[in-house]
Amino acid sequence: MKTEKTKKVPAGETIDTDLLVLGGGPGGYTAAFRAADLGLSVTLVDARDSLGGVCLNVGCIPSKALLHAARSLEEARALAELGIEFSEPRIRLDRLRSWKEALVAKLGGGLAGLARRRKVRVLTGRGEFIGPHRLAVADGPDVNFKQAIVAVGSQPVRLPGLPDDPRIMDSSAALALKSVPGRLLVVGGGIIGMELATVYAALGSRVTVVELTDGLLPGCDRDLVQPLQERVAARYEAILSGTRLVSAQAREDGVHVVLEGPRASGSQVYDAVLVAVGRRPNGAGIGAERAGLKVDERGFIAVDASQRTHVPHIFAIGDVVGEPMLAHKAAYEGKVAAEVAAGRKSANDAKVIPAVAYTDPEVAWVGLTETAARRDGVAFESASFPWAASGRALSLGRGEGLTKILVDPHTHALLGVGMVGPQAGDLIAEAALAIEMGAEPGDIALTIHPHPTLSETLAFAAEAYEGTLTELYLNGKKR
Ligand code: NAD
Repeated sequence: MKTEKTKKVPAGETIDTDLLVLGGGPGGYTAAFRAADLGLSVTLVDARDSLGGVCLNVGCIPSKALLHAARSLEEARALAELGIEFSEPRIRLDRLRSWKEALVAKLGGGLAGLARRRKVRVLTGRGEFIGPHRLAVADGPDVNFKQAIVAVGSQPVRLPGLPDDPRIMDSSAALALKSVPGRLLVVGGGIIGMELATVYAALGSRVTVVELTDGLLPGCDRDLVQPLQERVAARYEAILSGTRLVSAQAREDGVHVVLEGPRASGSQVYDAVLVAVGRRPNGAGIGAERAGLKVDERGFIAVDASQRTHVPHIFAIGDVVGEPMLAHKAAYEGKVAAEVAAGRKSANDAKVIPAVAYTDPEVAWVGLTETAARRDGVAFESASFPWAASGRALSLGRGEGLTKILVDPHTHALLGVGMVGPQAGDLIAEAALAIEMGAEPGDIALTIHPHPTLSETLAFAAEAYEGTLTELYLNGKKR
């Protein structure tokens, strides 16, 4: 289903608008809606014929839909241990695909409705600046704007030298779910690679992951990655770290690849290859220079704390202004930019941005990580709570989780939290709020958490730090 548009404006005509938003992803549509609510006339331009950008159409949402299916399959299999046995599932891929597509269409339709109600004019077509106050829309009108917000996002990095073959996929192609390959090679053990590996492994693919660095989810603390690493090592064909893809040839019998690494040798044949080696910003190719905007050699546009570029009437938000490339960061920045454009006093003063890998188990972290603290010489104290001592985690059959807190040894402020285990992505929100509010572990420990829930693991980690934990017997300080 396509997003319904406001009235089509033919090529050759010109539209005047207070605020142009270029890009209709979570950053762009949030900015457009907020600006409209603050009284600006807004025109939102996107090349796709449905709003929501990569996140809704070929990213966060379809991947979460498929991850839900994957988790259900895994949970049904795991019930055998409890004496509940199902026969092997029959997976009707076309039904699964249609269900996912219907979900995406429903949300896209919702966004179109929200745009209509706010009288945000939505134009479909690639937009390119042709002057500091003018944008051309392919096969559409020109837009004269007083101010603009650039929210053009990012795209998958391509590995050079790979053949153009439908069996060599990026994340969008993998989410299209054309088939379930027998043997799947995932190149890149980052968030996208591991989430899609989770989906395809549950659907029946034999998965190999090759990761350039020495472990999965680089940048994340190793103790948080460990439970994920162990689970996938037991389920997947191979996890090859310190390994890179040297070449790939598409032949009739499969994709022949050569890998280079300590445990990789010779040529291997896979039915499909997923390349997920990062994303790059879309700053190039939007005629930025004609608007006077500077785009760095990587494609990023620099902004200040009000999301303003060095061209005072043009703002930029989301993936195109820098890492981390996350939808929730883009939406937050979109609100700031819209508010500043509408004359409000607003600034990007977020202390922390949570990150989640929706793998099985989920891995989530917010604020300072132990890896970053050691790298940058930041002093910290830490405490953790193993989910093996959580009744709720054990009742789910998932005692492998861990919740860890990092604390400033001088001020006792909470600096960072990491979690691994089912639902970690939802649980991390409490930690983000705690850090934003300047909470100390004592504040969390003295907050009554519902029992029995996984949310208690944060309170227990805080109690472990405080020396008041009774759920475990810890040698060390008690108060
Ligand atoms: P990433 O940077 O997270 O991971 C890419 C991985 O590929 C890294 O581990 C890197 O070491 C590895 N790599 C690079 N070149 C390689 C090579 N030649 N051979 C083998 N491995 C190689 O990138 P991603 O997973 O593609 O995700 C892109 C962006 O999208 C990230 O910013 C991520 O935060 C964001 N994203 C977030 C979510 C989420 O929040 N759940 C989901 C998807 C994507």
